[in-house]
Amino acid sequence: MKITIDGPAGAGKSTVARALARRLGFSYLDSGALYRALAWAALGQGADLDGEEGLARLLDSLELRPDQAGVWVNGTLVTSALRRPDVDEAASRVARHPAVRAAMVRLQRQLGEGVDMIADGRDIGSVVWPDAEVKIFLTASLAKRAARRALEQPQEDQGQIAQAIAERDAHDAERPVGALLIAPGAIVVDTSELSVEETVERLAEIVEAVP
Ligand code: C5P
Repeated sequence: MKITIDGPAGAGKSTVARALARRLGFSYLDSGALYRALAWAALGQGADLDGEEGLARLLDSLELRPDQAGVWVNGTLVTSALRRPDVDEAASRVARHPAVRAAMVRLQRQLGEGVDMIADGRDIGSVVWPDAEVKIFLTASLAKRAARRALEQPQEDQGQIAQAIAERDAHDAERPVGALLIAPGAIVVDTSELSVEETVERLAEIVEAVP
């Protein structure tokens, strides 16, 4: 069984998906962490973030292995660096390229082969597993999403966080391939007024209602 959770930045996808996976005994895949790992490697090498071929070659040369702690990139565990603001922005840029996305989609399908999995991202229900049994589109108001990120990044200004999130959402929604959208058949859950626990409860009810 596959459960997909897509939505804009800061909607709480990873927190909720991880908790739901624990509750249901499913594996959890944070697809954004894979794009972030590529972005981290690209920044480290000074690679051109607009160069599709170079990035696809770089991705090909990397062994990406996500686990609960973070992502292993060629044997090195990368964790907190993946959440850096420059990596946020770079991830959205590398994710624009169709050749990068095609390779990432292949990798995600491989990781999900034969396992019950919950994955979160932007295109999981629309592209990676369009036949998933449960598809969720998790969203919240921009103000709420920025406020939540500000709790994680107290050193950053909330107004600037909101602006960075809005820009990233616009990039993610406007790209021609793998755009952020509500997948056909997805259930929209707005978490603006819900706690993490209430959101997990809501999603568990949706999953339990599947025949
Ligand atoms: O979900 P997260 O914020 O970690 O994702 C980082 C970036 O990776 C997003 O802004 C998006 O551009 C990209 N991404 C994507 N497709 C996914 C997951 C993430 O393009 N399935």
